[in-house]
Amino acid sequence: MTQLADDCFAFGGKLMSAGEALGLLDRRIGTVAEAETVALDEAHGRILAADLIAAQPVPPHENVAVDGYAFAFASLAPSGDSRLKIEGRAAAGKPVSGACGPGTAVRVFTGAVMPAGADTVVMQEDVIVEGDFVQVPHGLKRGANRRKVGEDVPSGGVAAPKGTRLRAQEIGLAAALGQTALQVHRRLRVALFSTGDELREPGEALPPGAIPDSNRAMLRALLAELPVTVSDLGILRDRASEVRDALSAAAATHDLLLTSAGVSTGEEDHVRAAVEALGQLHFWRLAIKPGRPLALGQIGRTPFVGLPGNPVASMVCFLRFCRPILLRMAGAQRIEPVLYAVRADFDHRKRLDRREWLRARLERRDDGALWAKPFPRQGSGILSSLVQSDGLVELGEEVTEVKPGSIVAFLPYTEVGV
Ligand code: AMP
Ligand code: MG
Repeated sequence: MTQLADDCFAFGGKLMSAGEALGLLDRRIGTVAEAETVALDEAHGRILAADLIAAQPVPPHENVAVDGYAFAFASLAPSGDSRLKIEGRAAAGKPVSGACGPGTAVRVFTGAVMPAGADTVVMQEDVIVEGDFVQVPHGLKRGANRRKVGEDVPSGGVAAPKGTRLRAQEIGLAAALGQTALQVHRRLRVALFSTGDELREPGEALPPGAIPDSNRAMLRALLAELPVTVSDLGILRDRASEVRDALSAAAATHDLLLTSAGVSTGEEDHVRAAVEALGQLHFWRLAIKPGRPLALGQIGRTPFVGLPGNPVASMVCFLRFCRPILLRMAGAQRIEPVLYAVRADFDHRKRLDRREWLRARLERRDDGALWAKPFPRQGSGILSSLVQSDGLVELGEEVTEVKPGSIVAFLPYTEVGV
């Protein structure tokens, strides 16, 4: 089903920086989702599988950009104001029947087809009307307030390239081009599950030592923003044969298997054993905080992503590593989020060569800048740190110290649809 190489996550085992890991994923992960045609209303959030080519120009006819009077520039006096006779009226959807002759002007409204013979429009605010005559001031440019055919998108032009994630504006442009359907990549099929004997469904009674499975609900919500269909396989119990059967069945019918927890190095765990028995599993020892080793593997040609169990590490690793993998597999060109420069409202020391993320709130100060203040408890089990923050301060490998007022990179949750 997929076009990924046999062992696209193979990796020698040394400590790897987040930057190297992202570079490797960018090179090794390809698009696997085939193209399909969907109605325009179904296309929001999907990824274009072919360039969107303009079958007709936008706008389709030369038209008027303001309410005013249209005339031939040649009708204007070489100096001083001009007096033109008003003949006819054109509004959006109601063209004037005749042409605009020399010395005359047509009363026009925004969106009206430019009357034949006219090439220039004066705004109604700039003229004096006396009975059937309009006085046009000197100084207009030829072609003023006129929208040319195809000035937005010419016929045959690329309105949006293949690999574009369709937002409201691309949908609007496609409608302006007269499209009723678009060629997009089909949704990726993602199988999601949790493992761990301590986990229960939210709302279930909790025996001693049990906790609700919060990661799966969070991951379902994180996935909801992406062009994927999620099969929720629930909580897999720690029974070797059960886990193996579930994973091998899911691998045959999905594009990616996603789980959190239970795959740490050295752990006695059936998911790890199952993936190793059915395919390959690699632990990427990433120099990141939060986040334990990210488990990446393959069952057949279906990739497996094992996120850390701690909720904060799970979400951070999803956003920075799993989301780009999914976007690329789904056909997207741009897979990395944009980070924004903000000011640090904190002191921080960190290890060189490690990438760190701090959950922080943004506040606009009197200086006009946005200042990031980290949540006081940054433990990777503290879900509140995600709830009480606007995004992640991302401190790169090269950073060792942050002082109040330093410029730092910030990933707003809204940037990644959270
Ligand atoms: P592990 O990666 O299995 O060592 O788990 C790390 C921590 O994450 C432990 O405290 C687990 O109880 C917790 N954890 C694992 N899976 C989940 C989950 N689905 N929801 C909430 N917490 C979890
Ligand atoms: Mg566990």
